[in-house]
Amino acid sequence: MTRCVETLVVGAGISGLAYAHARGPQADLVVLEGAKRAGGLVHTERLGAQGEFRAELGPESLRFEVAGGLTDMLRELGLEARKPPTNASKRFLVHRGRLVDAPLGPKMITTPLLTLGGKLRLASEPFRAARVALDGSVADFVRHRIGQEALDALLDPLVSGIHAGDPQQLSMRACFPRLVELVETHGGLFKALFKTRGDPAPSVMKPVGGCDAIVSALTRALGERIVLDASVGSLAFDGETWRVRSTVGEFEAARLVLALPAASAARLLSTVAPALARPIGSIASESLVSVTHVWRRADVGHPLDGFGYLVASRERMRHLGTLFSSSIAPDACPPSHVVLRTLLGGARRPETIDLAEAELLAIVRSEVRALLELRGEPELVRVQRWRATLPRFDLAHPERVAAIEAACPPSLVLLGNWLRGIGVNHLVAHARSRAAELSRAG
Ligand SMILES: Cc1cc2nc3c(=O)[nH]c(=O)nc-3n(C[C@H](O)[C@H](O)[C@H](O)COP(=O)(O)OP(=O)(O)OC[C@H]3O[C@@H](n4cnc5c(N)ncnc54)[C@H](O)[C@@H]3O)c2cc1C
Repeated sequence: MTRCVETLVVGAGISGLAYAHARGPQADLVVLEGAKRAGGLVHTERLGAQGEFRAELGPESLRFEVAGGLTDMLRELGLEARKPPTNASKRFLVHRGRLVDAPLGPKMITTPLLTLGGKLRLASEPFRAARVALDGSVADFVRHRIGQEALDALLDPLVSGIHAGDPQQLSMRACFPRLVELVETHGGLFKALFKTRGDPAPSVMKPVGGCDAIVSALTRALGERIVLDASVGSLAFDGETWRVRSTVGEFEAARLVLALPAASAARLLSTVAPALARPIGSIASESLVSVTHVWRRADVGHPLDGFGYLVASRERMRHLGTLFSSSIAPDACPPSHVVLRTLLGGARRPETIDLAEAELLAIVRSEVRALLELRGEPELVRVQRWRATLPRFDLAHPERVAAIEAACPPSLVLLGNWLRGIGVNHLVAHARSRAAELSRAG
């Protein structure tokens, strides 16, 4: 029997869930999710015999704008998010095999990460032409504005921390549209900093109970309108109605929302809308491996007085960085222990996704052990492989997105981290604005 609904949402990652929630409790809508759990990449897990350790397998913390998007959604769900304690606000970078403070603000003057020449080049940023390298790679933009040294020492690790990507390959406008906009509006980054000082700023925070708390609240709010273990296999469209085949039966809908990874969306659209499927299918993605390791506090020499550290390519290490998860959220484990999370792979080392667990642990033992003064062995390890999950916003991406949006019929809504931003804050804001368009129209 075919079930008819006004809107069918395919995919219950944060994009699909946020869209369905924003349509309101009265919307005639069903969400189909292929996996046995909702949330997609947003996944918090309890570890240990009594579940006494909490680990994030996907996002560790989220960026909250002053208002709108994620901030509004959490308020509607009655959830609270907290900033990491002040002793977790420091960020570290690896320099010649040891951790040094990331040079935020006045620390730039004394940082060992840049030579005097590199610091002077960075300080000359206000005198660089404004309209140069805005549509090139992240590397072109950074090199032009603050120099090669700052690119290698500061931006390269940051880009691998956010996009798991290579600054030479990534489009500045697609990855950091806000920075491009600031340069376009104010003529330079330092000028923009000066002119926007005092403006309310976004905060990096974590939902109480972990990122999964958002997924649980959204799933509860949707109730029976979400169906798990319901994988969609094919689509048909006659110009008015979408016909959708899934493992739980057939559906007909006037509106179809695909909130899927790029490869899944391209596969489903390949027969019904090849002109749309082609550019979506051309998006490459990076793979990441997350290794959570739990230690007795007494076995860790470093005070872990920060958020974590990132590693620049020039250090030639095999991991990208380590998050101090239990410093970011002290309730993630009892005070006798610490939870650390090392990320590996990305564009820098794509082969890492296929390494055996023993090899991954050998990297943690040889590289992280020295940086954080770890003694003995971890009490617990949890490896999560995220294969082809972070889309590469390459130089063709801005044009690709324009082509996708132009070819999309009005009854199809496309959501996901491969369109305009990978952060949960971007995805929620985008999903909510697409849902709001409909309320305005109707
Ligand atoms: C290791 C890691 C760390 C990250 N850290 C951060 C961070 O700190 N902060 C931040 O903001 N972001 C972070 N991100 C990015 C962010 O988590 C993701 O971009 C975001 O969660 C993607 O959400 P989504 O809903 O678009 O896609 P997904 O989460 O991929 O959801 C898509 C859903 O579609 C389902 N699906 C697929 N095919 C089908 C089908 N045929 N039928 C039905 N269902 C289907 C999948 O099972 C999945 O549930 C991180 C990502 C990773 C991998």
